[in-house]
Amino acid sequence: MSDTAARPGARERNGPTPGTPTHEHVSLAEDWVASNYSPLPVVISHAEGAWVTDVEGRRYLDALAGYSALNFGHLHPALVGAARTQLDRLTLTSRAFHSDRLGPFCRDLATLAGKDLVLPMNTGAEAVETAIKTARRWGYEVKGVPDGRARIVVMAGNFHGRTTTIISFSDDPVAHDHYGPYTPGFDTVPFGDLEALEAAVTDDTVAVLLEPIQGEGGVILPPDGWLREVRELTRRRGVLMVADEIQSGLGRTGTTFACDVEGVVPDVYVLGKALGGGIVPVSAVVADRDVLGVITPGSHGSTFGGNPLAAAVGQAVVGLLATGEFQQRARWLGAILDAGLRELIGHGVDAVRCRGLWAGVDIDPRLMTGREASHRLLEHGVLVKDTHGSTVRLAPPLVVGEVEIQLLLDAFAAILR
Ligand SMILES: *Cc1c(COP(=O)(O)O)cnc(C)c1O
Repeated sequence: MSDTAARPGARERNGPTPGTPTHEHVSLAEDWVASNYSPLPVVISHAEGAWVTDVEGRRYLDALAGYSALNFGHLHPALVGAARTQLDRLTLTSRAFHSDRLGPFCRDLATLAGKDLVLPMNTGAEAVETAIKTARRWGYEVKGVPDGRARIVVMAGNFHGRTTTIISFSDDPVAHDHYGPYTPGFDTVPFGDLEALEAAVTDDTVAVLLEPIQGEGGVILPPDGWLREVRELTRRRGVLMVADEIQSGLGRTGTTFACDVEGVVPDVYVLGKALGGGIVPVSAVVADRDVLGVITPGSHGSTFGGNPLAAAVGQAVVGLLATGEFQQRARWLGAILDAGLRELIGHGVDAVRCRGLWAGVDIDPRLMTGREASHRLLEHGVLVKDTHGSTVRLAPPLVVGEVEIQLLLDAFAAILR
């Protein structure tokens, strides 16, 4: 192996070898795709379970799983089967009519979440927007906040999506800057700080919006007991607790929802990503009738939300989760991942935060950036994504086995050597 090939960042600087299929596809993308991402130089063409294959036939362990959109792995037979069957029957009706798929999906999802109603949307950001609209309407029509004054408390370091309103309360300058004017009505407090939250809640506050674990932030865990305290505070102050479980939910943390870890039931669940089984975008707001009942015909909608194909896949996803098997796998394998990563602390790793099959690994910044670590792991056959400078996020599909976890740990140890 030549010196440059082995050096971290070599691919980044030189790009893929000219003349290879990888180079061809990367060049095409560079010519024709807007640069809102900076993908690693691997071109995937096939996948199954936890493994993907690139255009040159190399196989990689997918330890990102589409930011948790692929919790059940690539091409899970039950999910692909549900999609195939539905493709041959009915794919879109619009909500102007009923379909025979939407009711069963919403019944099963509401039952899984222990709530009354489901409002189906497509992307995560749309579901967050839907939750914001629902909370404001609830504030005016149920709580009695004077019209136009509703406020929502959000957390520093949040990630809730990319719409203009959502980035209005992002404190990440890359996501936020030069997209103004911004939507008002949001108050930011430090994540995990109960006193600051208590002080920020006023008579006009309609909701507290939080990620139970901040995924994009680097898998940031709140202090033990904080979610329970937020639940108690929001109940006492007459404010909705809205949990954005788009990334943390649906088995990832070893429980169906990340809030379950503390036995907390929020007023509103916001779901997405894995709900679409890695096949179609499916998102939803799930809450009881006293909250979601404020949404009336015509006051909110979506052409594609709840379409029969999405509903068929979503119902199959709920079916997988209802068995508890994936939650159990995440707990079992997560413990192995956590223990293995912890052994690297002091050997190139500064800190590890793990919950279920979900880990944020802070690399010693003197050694390399998170981006460089991602490049080196790619060379070792493992796909991950860096976040915030020196952190690498691991979220392998919940279908991995012990062999894959060991491979991931070995690759990590190798790049730090
Ligand atoms: C990914 C994500 C979103 C946005 O979902 P999109 O489908 O990309 O719009 C919102 N909240 C959280 C916590 C997420 O991880």
